[in-house]
Amino acid sequence: MVNKNLPKSVYIHIPFCKTKCAYCGFYSKSPQEFDVGKLLDAEITELKKSSFQKPVNTLYIGGGSPASIGAQMLCDFLSEIVKLTGNAEEFTVEINPADANENLLTNLKSLGVNRISIGVQSFAQKELDFLGRRYSVEKIDQIINSAKQAGFENISIDLIFAIPGSILRTWRQNLKKTIETGVTHISAYSLTYEKNTPLEKTKSAGQIKTVSKELDRKMYETAIEILGGAGFEHYEISNFAKPGFQCRHNLTYWKNDFYIGIGPAAASYIPDWRTENISDIDKYIECIPLETHRSSIPSNSKNLSSLTGCIENDKNPISERIKISPVEKASQAAVLGLRLIKGINLTDYKQKTGFDIFELFKDSIEKNLKLNLLQLKNGYLSLTKIALPIADSVLCDFAQPD
Ligand code: SF4
Repeated sequence: MVNKNLPKSVYIHIPFCKTKCAYCGFYSKSPQEFDVGKLLDAEITELKKSSFQKPVNTLYIGGGSPASIGAQMLCDFLSEIVKLTGNAEEFTVEINPADANENLLTNLKSLGVNRISIGVQSFAQKELDFLGRRYSVEKIDQIINSAKQAGFENISIDLIFAIPGSILRTWRQNLKKTIETGVTHISAYSLTYEKNTPLEKTKSAGQIKTVSKELDRKMYETAIEILGGAGFEHYEISNFAKPGFQCRHNLTYWKNDFYIGIGPAAASYIPDWRTENISDIDKYIECIPLETHRSSIPSNSKNLSSLTGCIENDKNPISERIKISPVEKASQAAVLGLRLIKGINLTDYKQKTGFDIFELFKDSIEKNLKLNLLQLKNGYLSLTKIALPIADSVLCDFAQPD
């Protein structure tokens, strides 16, 4: 019998980058400072001990920059992973243009990878240099062409807008160039100034002129307009796809379905629990040869427990675990579901959470309907067009029931 609660999506974190981008707030380290092989072995062990549906629906290899560990090592690792997960319907590998070449892309294709997500960020050299990305615009073109030549039809690129110095014209040029490449999926995010990054420090020192809120908003609206006009469906606040090319893995997150995250700093969502692995490669490796695993969280766990390091006497890599009550699950389903442009299917919501969204969030829904920030259409509750640029403030209303 199929167990409906078994995660069908697996994320594997390869936390290495050869250099650090100026804006990066993610956990990533230089591969030269660690025993990469040991970490990969530990990740395979963690995966072996995790419970998930086989074959998985989606498998996502992210980072970091997965290819920064070297093509051979990455491909050997992936062939071991596929033996454990089976052939995923959607198998994505993130690629940093600086680390990739045609050979790597051909090898990934032969391993069953069918989706490539390229961290382009910008098609303007000045902006790439500002962000601390270590490749040229020519290299981006080469990698996209190589991916096509290797047989990839499903190619996603990430873009960043509101980079200091950018104006509406340069952002339009970026979008135009993106469309010309023929990629099938685009994630576009406004530049954020993460705490303790070099970029945030430069900003705090008053050494950069940030893009105004108004221009940032205009850039976002321009992306919606231009990408929409080029046949990209705007399906999530920051994501656009050609028909049939929505990211199924990320839809798992937005639909609040279960998933497993493997590796340092990776997060998982399994029935009743959200967990996060320790953000420390050495400690993660130390914690790994374990007898217990995430599907057997100790019964003496408190409802809300936040720990640092391995969980004492129960060596596993989880550093934080939070028990999710039915009401919290319903809140999270609302916040995540409203990120989708189509919104929340009201029948599915009730079935999945056991709650009527209109009872749980009566005041928030009434308030935002009146403000024309939410709409009800064909059995879906969704953000309106004018709510999209200020989505976070609307979503905040659903963080807790009224
Ligand atoms: S490539 Fe990504 S993860 Fe690596 S340093 Fe740059 S932003 Fe961070």
